[in-house]
Amino acid sequence: MVFAHDTEVALAAAVALVNTLDGPDDHLTDLAALDEFVEAWSWTGTRTHDAHELEAVRALRPQLRALWDSNEDEVVRRVNDMLRAANALPQLVKHDAWDYHLHARPEAPLATRMAVEAAMAFVDIVRSSGLDRLRVCDMDDCAAVAIDLTKNKSKRYCDGGCSNRAAVAAYRARKAAHSD
Ligand SMILES: [Zn+2]
Ligand SMILES: [Zn+2]
Repeated sequence: MVFAHDTEVALAAAVALVNTLDGPDDHLTDLAALDEFVEAWSWTGTRTHDAHELEAVRALRPQLRALWDSNEDEVVRRVNDMLRAANALPQLVKHDAWDYHLHARPEAPLATRMAVEAAMAFVDIVRSSGLDRLRVCDMDDCAAVAIDLTKNKSKRYCDGGCSNRAAVAAYRARKAAHSD
Protein backbone atom coordinates (compact mmCIF):
# COMPACT_ATOMS: atom_id res chain seq x y z
CA MET A 1 0.00 0.00 0.00
CA VAL A 2 1.36 3.39 -1.02
CA PHE A 3 -1.06 5.54 0.99
CA ALA A 4 -3.39 4.85 3.90
CA HIS A 5 -6.32 2.67 2.91
CA ASP A 6 -8.92 5.44 3.12
CA THR A 7 -6.70 7.72 1.06
CA GLU A 8 -6.45 5.10 -1.68
CA VAL A 9 -10.22 4.56 -1.66
CA ALA A 10 -10.81 8.32 -1.82
CA LEU A 11 -8.36 8.63 -4.71
CA ALA A 12 -10.03 5.78 -6.60
CA ALA A 13 -13.41 7.42 -6.06
CA ALA A 14 -12.07 10.78 -7.29
CA VAL A 15 -10.60 9.09 -10.38
CA ALA A 16 -13.92 7.36 -11.06
CA LEU A 17 -15.81 10.63 -10.66
CA VAL A 18 -13.51 12.48 -13.05
CA ASN A 19 -13.79 9.60 -15.54
CA THR A 20 -17.59 9.76 -15.61
CA LEU A 21 -16.82 12.50 -18.12
CA ASP A 22 -15.38 10.41 -20.90
CA GLY A 23 -14.50 12.75 -23.79
CA PRO A 24 -17.85 13.70 -25.32
CA ASP A 25 -19.61 10.97 -23.31
CA ASP A 26 -21.01 12.04 -19.98
CA HIS A 27 -22.00 9.16 -17.69
CA LEU A 28 -23.39 11.35 -14.92
CA THR A 29 -26.33 13.08 -16.53
CA ASP A 30 -29.21 12.18 -14.24
CA LEU A 31 -30.05 11.28 -10.65
CA ALA A 32 -30.23 7.57 -11.45
CA ALA A 33 -26.60 7.70 -12.61
CA LEU A 34 -25.65 9.62 -9.46
CA ASP A 35 -27.45 7.06 -7.28
CA GLU A 36 -25.54 4.31 -9.04
CA PHE A 37 -22.23 6.11 -8.52
CA VAL A 38 -22.95 6.76 -4.84
CA GLU A 39 -23.89 3.11 -4.38
CA ALA A 40 -20.88 1.79 -6.30
CA TRP A 41 -18.47 3.84 -4.17
CA SER A 42 -20.36 3.28 -0.90
CA TRP A 43 -20.80 6.96 -0.15
CA THR A 44 -22.51 7.36 3.21
CA GLY A 45 -24.10 10.47 4.73
CA THR A 46 -27.04 12.67 3.83
CA ARG A 47 -28.47 12.99 0.32
CA THR A 48 -31.01 15.40 -1.11
CA HIS A 49 -31.64 13.47 -4.36
CA ASP A 50 -32.38 16.61 -6.35
CA ALA A 51 -31.10 18.44 -9.40
CA HIS A 52 -29.03 20.76 -7.24
CA GLU A 53 -27.12 17.83 -5.73
CA LEU A 54 -26.48 16.36 -9.17
CA GLU A 55 -25.29 19.70 -10.53
CA ALA A 56 -22.93 20.23 -7.59
CA VAL A 57 -21.34 16.79 -8.08
CA ARG A 58 -21.03 17.39 -11.82
CA ALA A 59 -19.41 20.75 -11.16
CA LEU A 60 -16.83 19.09 -8.93
CA ARG A 61 -15.44 17.07 -11.84
CA PRO A 62 -13.53 19.84 -13.66
CA GLN A 63 -12.17 21.04 -10.30
CA LEU A 64 -10.75 17.59 -9.63
CA ARG A 65 -9.62 17.05 -13.22
CA ALA A 66 -7.57 20.25 -13.01
CA LEU A 67 -5.41 18.64 -10.33
CA TRP A 68 -3.98 16.34 -13.00
CA ASP A 69 -2.80 19.33 -15.01
CA SER A 70 -1.34 21.30 -12.13
CA ASN A 71 2.13 21.62 -10.71
CA GLU A 72 2.67 21.19 -6.98
CA ASP A 73 2.05 24.81 -6.02
CA GLU A 74 -1.15 24.88 -8.08
CA VAL A 75 -2.35 21.61 -6.58
CA VAL A 76 -1.73 23.03 -3.11
CA ARG A 77 -3.64 26.20 -3.93
CA ARG A 78 -6.57 24.24 -5.42
CA VAL A 79 -6.68 21.77 -2.54
CA ASN A 80 -6.52 24.54 0.07
CA ASP A 81 -9.29 26.41 -1.78
CA MET A 82 -11.46 23.29 -1.85
CA LEU A 83 -10.97 22.67 1.86
CA ARG A 84 -11.70 26.31 2.70
CA ALA A 85 -14.76 26.53 0.43
CA ALA A 86 -16.16 23.32 1.92
CA ASN A 87 -15.54 24.55 5.45
CA ALA A 88 -13.90 21.18 5.88
CA LEU A 89 -14.20 19.52 9.24
CA PRO A 90 -12.58 16.11 8.75
CA GLN A 91 -13.69 13.49 11.25
CA LEU A 92 -12.39 10.03 12.07
CA VAL A 93 -15.28 7.57 11.94
CA LYS A 94 -15.88 3.82 12.04
CA HIS A 95 -18.86 2.23 10.32
CA ASP A 96 -19.97 -1.01 8.70
CA ALA A 97 -16.92 -3.22 8.26
CA TRP A 98 -14.50 -0.31 8.12
CA ASP A 99 -12.07 0.59 10.86
CA TYR A 100 -11.37 4.26 11.66
CA HIS A 101 -11.06 6.38 8.56
CA LEU A 102 -11.42 9.98 7.56
CA HIS A 103 -14.73 11.53 6.51
CA ALA A 104 -15.98 15.01 5.90
CA ARG A 105 -18.77 15.90 8.34
CA PRO A 106 -21.69 13.61 7.40
CA GLU A 107 -24.32 16.39 7.33
CA ALA A 108 -22.45 18.32 4.61
CA PRO A 109 -23.93 18.09 1.09
CA LEU A 110 -22.77 15.13 -1.01
CA ALA A 111 -20.64 17.20 -3.39
CA THR A 112 -18.99 18.93 -0.44
CA ARG A 113 -18.11 15.62 1.16
CA MET A 114 -16.77 14.34 -2.13
CA ALA A 115 -14.66 17.49 -2.49
CA VAL A 116 -13.30 17.32 1.05
CA GLU A 117 -12.44 13.63 0.89
CA ALA A 118 -10.73 14.02 -2.48
CA ALA A 119 -8.89 17.11 -1.22
CA MET A 120 -7.77 15.29 1.94
CA ALA A 121 -6.45 12.45 -0.21
CA PHE A 122 -4.51 14.96 -2.28
CA VAL A 123 -3.12 16.41 0.95
CA ASP A 124 -1.60 12.98 1.54
CA ILE A 125 -0.21 12.85 -1.99
CA VAL A 126 1.44 16.25 -1.66
CA ARG A 127 2.82 15.48 1.81
CA SER A 128 4.46 12.33 0.50
CA SER A 129 5.72 13.99 -2.71
CA GLY A 130 3.52 11.67 -4.75
CA LEU A 131 2.22 13.96 -7.49
CA ASP A 132 4.26 11.98 -10.02
CA ARG A 133 1.71 9.21 -9.44
CA LEU A 134 -1.03 11.10 -11.25
CA ARG A 135 -1.56 9.66 -14.71
CA VAL A 136 -3.50 10.40 -17.85
CA CYS A 137 -4.02 7.18 -19.80
CA ASP A 138 -1.32 6.46 -22.39
CA MET A 139 -3.76 5.01 -24.92
CA ASP A 140 -4.07 7.34 -27.91
CA ASP A 141 -7.83 7.62 -27.93
CA CYS A 142 -8.33 7.67 -24.16
CA ALA A 143 -8.22 10.72 -21.90
CA ALA A 144 -9.14 8.98 -18.66
CA VAL A 145 -7.15 9.80 -15.54
CA ALA A 146 -5.62 7.33 -13.11
CA ILE A 147 -3.45 7.16 -10.03
CA ASP A 148 -0.42 4.93 -10.10
CA LEU A 149 -0.28 2.97 -6.85
CA THR A 150 2.32 0.47 -8.08
CA LYS A 151 5.58 0.18 -6.15
CA ASN A 152 7.77 1.03 -9.14
CA LYS A 153 5.42 3.66 -10.59
CA SER A 154 4.93 1.64 -13.78
CA LYS A 155 1.23 2.20 -14.43
CA ARG A 156 0.58 3.62 -17.90
CA TYR A 157 -3.09 3.05 -18.61
CA CYS A 158 -6.41 3.83 -16.99
CA ASP A 159 -8.53 1.20 -15.26
CA GLY A 160 -11.12 1.26 -18.05
CA GLY A 161 -9.64 -1.68 -19.96
CA CYS A 162 -6.85 0.15 -21.81
CA SER A 163 -4.06 -2.05 -20.42
CA ASN A 164 -5.85 -5.06 -21.92
CA ARG A 165 -6.29 -3.23 -25.21
CA ALA A 166 -2.60 -2.30 -25.20
CA ALA A 167 -1.59 -5.92 -24.48
CA VAL A 168 -3.76 -7.16 -27.36
CA ALA A 169 -2.34 -4.53 -29.72
CA ALA A 170 1.23 -5.46 -28.73
CA TYR A 171 0.47 -9.15 -29.26
CA ARG A 172 -0.97 -8.46 -32.73
CA ALA A 173 2.04 -6.32 -33.62
CA ARG A 174 4.42 -9.12 -32.55
CA LYS A 175 2.44 -11.68 -34.53
CA ALA A 176 2.42 -9.46 -37.63
CA ALA A 177 6.19 -8.96 -37.32
CA HIS A 178 6.74 -12.76 -37.16
CA SER A 179 4.61 -13.50 -40.21
CA ASP A 180 6.72 -11.34 -42.52
ZN1 LIG B 1 -16.77 5.59 5.50
ZN1 LIG C 1 -7.56 4.49 -20.97
